[in-house]
Amino acid sequence: ADAIDSGRDSFGARGGPVDVFYLPEGTHRHPTVSHGDGVYLWDTDGKRYIDACSGPVTTNLGHRNMRVIEAMRAQAEKICFAARQHFENEPNIALSDLATDLAGPGFERAFFVSGGSEATEAAIKLARQYAVARGDAGRWKVLGRDPGYHGASLGAASVTGDPTSEAVFASVMQVMPKVPAPFTYRLPENHDTDSYARHCAAALEATIVAEGAESVLAFIMEPVGGLATGALVAPDHYYSAVREICDRHGVLLIYDEVMSGAGRTGTFLAAEHWPDSRPDIVTLAKGIAAGYTPLGMVLAPSEMVDTVARSGGFLHGHTYVANPLSCAVGLAVLREVVDRDLMSNAAAMGTYLRKRLSEVQETSRILGDVRGLGLLNAIEIVTDRDKKEIPDAALRASTRLTEIGMGNGLLLYSRRTANGKYGEWLMLTPPLIVSEEETDEIVERLAKTLTIYESEIIA
Ligand code: PLP
Repeated sequence: ADAIDSGRDSFGARGGPVDVFYLPEGTHRHPTVSHGDGVYLWDTDGKRYIDACSGPVTTNLGHRNMRVIEAMRAQAEKICFAARQHFENEPNIALSDLATDLAGPGFERAFFVSGGSEATEAAIKLARQYAVARGDAGRWKVLGRDPGYHGASLGAASVTGDPTSEAVFASVMQVMPKVPAPFTYRLPENHDTDSYARHCAAALEATIVAEGAESVLAFIMEPVGGLATGALVAPDHYYSAVREICDRHGVLLIYDEVMSGAGRTGTFLAAEHWPDSRPDIVTLAKGIAAGYTPLGMVLAPSEMVDTVARSGGFLHGHTYVANPLSCAVGLAVLREVVDRDLMSNAAAMGTYLRKRLSEVQETSRILGDVRGLGLLNAIEIVTDRDKKEIPDAALRASTRLTEIGMGNGLLLYSRRTANGKYGEWLMLTPPLIVSEEETDEIVERLAKTLTIYESEIIA
């Protein structure tokens, strides 16, 4: 029941109308989507929903963006697919140029895959091949954070800090060492935000040393957390400390910007907020094609890519690498983001959204924390704001809030951490096109949703 509640298990239903193929017909839990426009979606009964989360933090341009649709149509008419062993393709070249220009120095090369999980795989494989090519083949461990999320495939799961997934899949993957994520809201005893972030950075160094620095290849983290930590932003000194520690031990730093990249935090890469601690490799997905087609990306320095190329080439051939149709969509998406200055809008609307959420927090017993950067935000749900109490599993907070939200025409994206250990939150990550009026509508519908849920758990 937990897996069904969390929506984790979705398979195409053969002959059935929707997902979750093992549920009998007539018991599907979701309405059927009809169409979308901007930040709104409609179901087939004509009910309208405002999207407070961009689906799973993906639809950065909202729906029915005509520039993207026109680019998709134009590319489809020219060519949808051309084999990599025969051709380069124009959209891939143009998108690589634009993405590397936006990413700036240190990211001269872009590699395009089908999504975030595959971007994680490609980043790990690139790091490993780079080490081997440099005669440093003893380095293979990739440290991750607990909690963290880097994708559903086995390589990505091996660096993902999620005990539920580890317990099931440990036998078919190499579980990599994890270090604590520097939470800022609920802190261990005798720590404040700063001291705990220092503790977490020190734990990274201690783990590298304990594992044997000469065996550690890379450290992967989300610079602004996604669903796994609920938009966690660490104090500035954490980012510099992580960079220094990685440099000291010859460890590559990988930023997973699958959620935080493509303008969502107000800059193209969230990494730009900490310019003195640039990562070596960055992954993106979700927002770069904004849900219009599947697309993921790895950004790396030319020296790394050339070293791997000279050693025989990157061992990561997928049929859909640099797919022309997806690259044409990604190009139109990024041009929209730049031409409409949506990164500035993300920064401004993010500040406005957090201010409005803090107002709701003053009168809500269950809104514990408001955090985030740009339009990558979350609110933490508690049973008592003063005590910061994590809701008991039986209260089904995330599931119920999502259900009540849908009833109120509000789409929410929620997470209860494994066994509730780190807390429970709702992502507040509307499309980057969101206006002040639409932000107000999201906040009003959210406040109503919280009030209904609060009265349910008090009753
Ligand atoms: N990394 C992060 C931070 C994510 O949030 C996700 C997806 O939610 C992924 C990787 C995996 O991306 P995908 O679902 O496109 O494979």
